[in-house]
Amino acid sequence: MRISKIFTKTQKISPRDEESANAIYLERGGFIYKNSAGVYTYLPLGWRVIEKISAIIREEMNSIGATEMFMPALHDKKYLSATGRWDIDVVFKVISGSDKEPNFNISWTHEEIAAEIASRYVSSYKDLPFSFYQIQTKFRNEPRAKSGLLRGREFLMKDLYSFHTSQEDLFSYYEKTREAYQKIFSRCGLKSIYTVAAGGDFTVSNTHEFQVIAPIGEDTIFVCSKCDYAENNEISKFKDGSECSQCGGKIIESKSIEVGNIFPLGTKYSDAFNLNFKDEKGEKHPVVMGSYGIGISRVMGAVVEVYHDEKGIMWPKNIAPFPLHLIGLNAKEAADKIYDDFVAEGVELLYDDRGNVSAGEKFADADLIGIPMRLVVSEKTLKEHAVEIKKRDGNKTEMVAISDLRSYINKNL
Ligand code: ATP
Ligand code: MG
Repeated sequence: MRISKIFTKTQKISPRDEESANAIYLERGGFIYKNSAGVYTYLPLGWRVIEKISAIIREEMNSIGATEMFMPALHDKKYLSATGRWDIDVVFKVISGSDKEPNFNISWTHEEIAAEIASRYVSSYKDLPFSFYQIQTKFRNEPRAKSGLLRGREFLMKDLYSFHTSQEDLFSYYEKTREAYQKIFSRCGLKSIYTVAAGGDFTVSNTHEFQVIAPIGEDTIFVCSKCDYAENNEISKFKDGSECSQCGGKIIESKSIEVGNIFPLGTKYSDAFNLNFKDEKGEKHPVVMGSYGIGISRVMGAVVEVYHDEKGIMWPKNIAPFPLHLIGLNAKEAADKIYDDFVAEGVELLYDDRGNVSAGEKFADADLIGIPMRLVVSEKTLKEHAVEIKKRDGNKTEMVAISDLRSYINKNL
């Protein structure tokens, strides 16, 4: 993509009233636009990152047998009323037409919707187990929308729902989901810590969160430095320096960002929506459910919190908007040719083709935008039939012959 074709511009000045790295760099780099507190537009560069994260999530969800679908964002009041969740604070309610009272809410989660849909298609044990997921916008009236993408009032979530004949079957799928989640976060460049968290009326045991250590995080967790066993402070008896209950190692207290949460639901939602199946003997039982969320936009914010320096973002290559950033400096013809050749081969790259911008500004923008590998073509490099290559997270520059570019990139990116 040519920078001259993207309508956004980078900004030198940090947005006012923002302290988090993700809010500052994502806005300055032209990834997101803040429409109001906790409500963002994903601009072209930002949407590419969301799409990369979503593609990783889709692959891993499909690999555990889940199928993708898309549920509504507008929910009739009957859904949350059936489980007593209509009056939860964060729910955004909607008044329709001439009604005096709200009769709808916009989606904050989909357990009720998922259970009701499933009840139409399940009658026998032979219909189970199955699971489906969606990537969709969630709305929550968060009292303190802040820290850029970390806490939105409108945000993107992947939510998965699973349906089983027994708790044993649920927990075996729960473990598969746990592994898939860990793969997703690690492919996004994040070390996620599987953390025991509170259960509640709607779960059969504790829930589990995937936490990323970061000073800006709103959660506090206690993590064993030896075995990585972790508990959220909302349930934990550990203190900083305690002995790990699992291995005797030393427990460390950390601030963290919750990027995912999985819930062994049991039958509360099935009971509310008559989601039942008949076993081999013809006896009726409620379906056992699980639900599993990942905050896609929060993952994007968390990655920036972990991967930035004083100049800007340093995207992990799997979710970078582009793997390569080509800069032409008074070498339009040669840079155009390199760009066209890459595009023809299906290689995605960002091309700074602006003619009226100084080298210094182009370099500063490249550091801010944070694409993993920068390629500079100039009169100087062309004398050696080469481009100058620098990784965003390194200091070294290297001259690479244009004829060797492909193999260099394949080896070093
Ligand atoms: P939190 O404790 O941070 O408010 P939650 O426990 O209420 O989150 P869940 O219902 O577990 O959130 O939602 C699943 C996932 O969606 C979370 O793990 C998180 O990654 C993401 N998420 C939740 N709320 C928000 C939000 N306001 N903005 C962005 N992402 C969110
Ligand atoms: Mg949660």
